[in-house]
Amino acid sequence: MITRKKTRQVRAGSLIIGGGAPVSIQSMTNVPVEDVEGTIGQIRALKEAGADLVRLALRKEESAGYLKKIIPAAGIPLCADIHFNHRIALAAIKAGINKVRINPGNIGDQSRVKEVVRAAKDSGVPIRIGVNGGSIDRKKYHEVTPENLVESALEHVTILEDNGFEDIVVSIKATDVFATIEANKLFSEKRDYPVHIGLTEAGYGIGCAVQSSIVLGHLLLAGIGDTIRVSMTGDPVNEIPVARSILETLGMRFQAIRIISCPTCGRTDTSLDILALATEVDRNLSARFRKRLEEMNRSITVAVMGCEVNGPGEASEADIGVAGGRGGKLLLFSRGEKVHTIGVDEVVEALAAEVEKIISAK
Ligand code: SF4
Repeated sequence: MITRKKTRQVRAGSLIIGGGAPVSIQSMTNVPVEDVEGTIGQIRALKEAGADLVRLALRKEESAGYLKKIIPAAGIPLCADIHFNHRIALAAIKAGINKVRINPGNIGDQSRVKEVVRAAKDSGVPIRIGVNGGSIDRKKYHEVTPENLVESALEHVTILEDNGFEDIVVSIKATDVFATIEANKLFSEKRDYPVHIGLTEAGYGIGCAVQSSIVLGHLLLAGIGDTIRVSMTGDPVNEIPVARSILETLGMRFQAIRIISCPTCGRTDTSLDILALATEVDRNLSARFRKRLEEMNRSITVAVMGCEVNGPGEASEADIGVAGGRGGKLLLFSRGEKVHTIGVDEVVEALAAEVEKIISAK
């Protein structure tokens, strides 16, 4: 059981962040906003994959103009990512953005901060302060240490607080696993603003997934984290299954179909491709039953096992499952009982029929 740290609550459009709201998944587009169709396509793909909020980099004041087309087509809360130029923030808020990421210590004098704060307050837009090991002020903070990262974040937070603004989300990220964990723990001891957590510039593929899982898993288990991102090089859509999987593993997000599959070994019949089978079973059953299972708040465990040694045990422990036999045949199990032997081509439909029976029996 995870006891989450109590944080304040802010709202970014329809998304509630902090204060016990479900941990949300964020990502960021990596096409320029000037490519309106490309940006909208990527936002929709991220939403379809399970993102709750998408961030867009706005580099010029004119960039905010494109938001007029992007925001209505997005169908998901959007955050504008802005550095140094407060006028871009003002234009984005005017265009209807749901959240702004800007560091008030980097935009110049107090009058500019006041302008942004007034606009954000008037429009009910929260401000995310983002401190990153790569962009921390090296003249002031000579080293990227957890203490310096937190000090830098607090510097920006204080500017907003002094201007009477507390609709704040804070992110403190570094490329170092330990520094990121430690900095977020330190910050959470000092302030109760909701935090967006992740390992920045975490690389690509499996390495990124593992490192991000260690950071996010550690912090989430410690009760820290209101929104998360897995920062992966490449198509940002690939970040979402990793983030989802982290939350599903910790029990923080509903998982309609949970697949248990074995690594296979020399006992697996050579005619069986267990990876292909498990992937197809997961894809097919999730697509068919996710919505109904979510409505019922019922998760179904499906075992896809390679042989008759450990297979029957796992398959009969799961709600449903198959265990590989000889000559392309598998044993089908449902609710602890062996049902019958089926061919590999029949597996998906046979399992779907068993899911249907379980759902109908409720
Ligand atoms: S279930 Fe069978 S095939 Fe799979 S790893 Fe275990 S012994 Fe090997």
